[in-house]
Amino acid sequence: MQKMIEQAESVLLHTYNRYQVVFDHGDGVTLYDTNGKAYLDFVSGIGVFALGYNNREYNDALKAQIDKIMHTSNYYYNEPAIKAATMLTKASGMDRVFFTNSGAEAVEGAIKAARKYAYLKDGKNDHEIIALEHSFHGRTMGALSVTGTPKYREAFEPMIGYVKFATMNDFDSILANVTDKTCAIIMETVQGEGGIYPAEESFLKQVKALCEEKDILLILDEVQCGMGRTGTLFAWQKYGIRPDIMTTAKALGCGVPVGAFLMTQKVAEHSLVAGDHGTTYGGNPFATAAICKVLEIFEKENIPAHAAEVGEYLAASLQKLVEKYDCIELRRGAGLMQGLVFTCPVGDIIKTAIDNGLVLINAGTNIIRFLPPLVITNQDVDNMIEILDAAIAANCK
Ligand SMILES: *Cc1c(COP(=O)(O)O)cnc(C)c1O
Repeated sequence: MQKMIEQAESVLLHTYNRYQVVFDHGDGVTLYDTNGKAYLDFVSGIGVFALGYNNREYNDALKAQIDKIMHTSNYYYNEPAIKAATMLTKASGMDRVFFTNSGAEAVEGAIKAARKYAYLKDGKNDHEIIALEHSFHGRTMGALSVTGTPKYREAFEPMIGYVKFATMNDFDSILANVTDKTCAIIMETVQGEGGIYPAEESFLKQVKALCEEKDILLILDEVQCGMGRTGTLFAWQKYGIRPDIMTTAKALGCGVPVGAFLMTQKVAEHSLVAGDHGTTYGGNPFATAAICKVLEIFEKENIPAHAAEVGEYLAASLQKLVEKYDCIELRRGAGLMQGLVFTCPVGDIIKTAIDNGLVLINAGTNIIRFLPPLVITNQDVDNMIEILDAAIAANCK
């Protein structure tokens, strides 16, 4: 394994400080490294592998699609894309979908749709977007422009123009940034990378009402918090509102790189038209066959409801650690998207956990983030807590 890591460091661009492990295969909620050591997985590849590893039905569906056709072009129709779009619009209550290859690309498309919508209203291109501090929307230039961590943006400026930042759950800070040029407000329903901050229902409702009043488009980024993770297929569905545009990716393909942005009929009729936007791979039959199978299994096995149930158990179990350790400030999150906020950096705790067979990830320096596969059980939570507890005890003196 050490040899492979050295080889990796000699050829891969060093954009990640990687943990010293080479994963080889997985089964259910367990990952195995190239030495055969087993790890309980509470990251699922950053909220991607919702169904767990080596799901037979999912694997078989993909293999069958490979033998049929993997790619055509968006200049032609293909059956899996039609089926995936039908399933996704029905399950989300949105009207139109555009498939992308990643979350960042979904955000790019959402921004373009919003800017075009405003442009069609007044023919100008000075339209402002309000984003939130602590937000994360991806690493491409447009998505980075609305990402609320200044250090991610600094070296790459100038960003796309006319972006302002407000504060999550502070409606006055939104109001203070609204002008007659505001075309969109973009936010994650539950912020992920920025530290697991869920939007409060009252805040989201106020933002939605403001958007309706002023014909501003509400873009909800559900790339991380969507796809069942917080207990409903999309996190906004339990708030009794609907965004004008939403993005999804990560668990949408459960390992196949795919994303999407969806919109209401109103936005679809007044924004992107033929020639405005495109992608070579986006929505190809292989990727969309994965979406179809994922959505089918989600519905058949009631995955979001399961996530809600185990999520409650996870939250309660983490809460006990908050009570036990002075070095843990608090827990926050929703469903199977949880964060433990420490008073100290968490890097060493995570390293100890990995050594002891538990994969965890941080969100910022002081927060451990929990994004397990959605198929975990209460027993898996107990096993995780046991290893985590020992790792905290070993590192928090
Ligand atoms: C991960 C993430 C993205 C970016 O997705 P990529 O597939 O990495 O481009 C965008 N928004 C949110 C909320 C994310 O968590």
